[in-house]
Amino acid sequence: MPPVKYDLACVVWELTLACNLKCLHCGSTAGGRRAEELSTREALDLCADLKKSGCRGVALMGGEPLLRKDFFEIAARVRELGMELSVITNGTIHSEEIFAKLKKLKPRAVAVSLDAADPALHDKIRGLAGAFRKTTDFMNRCLKEGLPVSVITTVHKLNIGELAKLRDLIKGRGIAWQVQTAGGEGGRFSKEFLLDPEEFYSVGLFVEACRREYSPEELPVIGAHDLGYNSALLKNVSLYEKWDGCQAGISVAGVRSDGGVTGCLAINDDKFMEGNVRQKNFFRIWNSPGSFLYTRGFKQEQAGLNCAACEHIETCKGGCNEMSLMKTGVSHNDPYCFCRLEKEIFRDELKSPLRKTGLNISWPSGGEAFRRLGRIFSGRRG
Ligand code: SF4
Ligand code: SF4
Repeated sequence: MPPVKYDLACVVWELTLACNLKCLHCGSTAGGRRAEELSTREALDLCADLKKSGCRGVALMGGEPLLRKDFFEIAARVRELGMELSVITNGTIHSEEIFAKLKKLKPRAVAVSLDAADPALHDKIRGLAGAFRKTTDFMNRCLKEGLPVSVITTVHKLNIGELAKLRDLIKGRGIAWQVQTAGGEGGRFSKEFLLDPEEFYSVGLFVEACRREYSPEELPVIGAHDLGYNSALLKNVSLYEKWDGCQAGISVAGVRSDGGVTGCLAINDDKFMEGNVRQKNFFRIWNSPGSFLYTRGFKQEQAGLNCAACEHIETCKGGCNEMSLMKTGVSHNDPYCFCRLEKEIFRDELKSPLRKTGLNISWPSGGEAFRRLGRIFSGRRG
């Protein structure tokens, strides 16, 4: 049988680990550059190699990617090679030259991180006084220039109460919004700020409610990969119409600024590095039959205890591997999937004799569990 070809939709490339902020939740504890950052020549060669590998889109991120002096040279090469370009920035570095050059690149998205509508809270999370003003100025200027602006919000206990205010700040302005949850890998983030299961589920509920309430033109909002899987209630949270398992090494890959290749940069564990472009080019790593075996070669018996007996294991493959590893130390074992959480959160409703047919709770007045989740946003939980 010929080897399976994997269609590479997107590579997320950490161009540098240097960063001018000190965000609490940063999974890679960015700040200083990695010792062996790729040179300009190596980065340009990698662009060509990504193209050769069939890559359709490249997302340049950091650290703060705009801190690399050759950022625009690398970004321009991505575009010259016909790949789509996204830029993920903290939005605090701007100049006339930057906006003019960004515009010329015709990026698919310029994504900025915004974690609170309250300026003081955003600044606290990002570790820089004045960050909120700089980032919102950046967003406004991008909008004025006709650039496709997205906001990425990373949710944890400190800012979960900001979601509704952020929605009001973003909606109706042509800004796309991605909501994701914080992992616990970063060295500056205290695990006590991680969302508990009810808070985590309520973020999904919030995204679903937004998507039911507003048209995609008014508020194009999606939940990131970590929010989802086989929910009986929330059908509309994720970008994917149908979840078909973790996409690390299947349709997405990550490249570290030192040339390390991984299925997903969110998995911050050297055990999941597949090689380094300095030793073996990206094309060979991507097409090697031995690469990304944890997703490409997944077998049901590899599922962890949370997922082994699940009726969805064949297609779901155990949810998000980053979440699974972070919470349980093993892959294919996501403890925060909506399918599992619903059985716990709505257990009283499930016990009701009226609910014999399974989880069939009316939206949005699903009883005490819904009220409890609603209180999370108002800060009146107790
Ligand atoms: S229990 Fe595991 S396999 Fe089942 S839906 Fe949840 S994450 Fe997927
Ligand atoms: S580990 Fe999670 S975030 Fe990364 S590709 Fe898999 S599902 Fe997506």
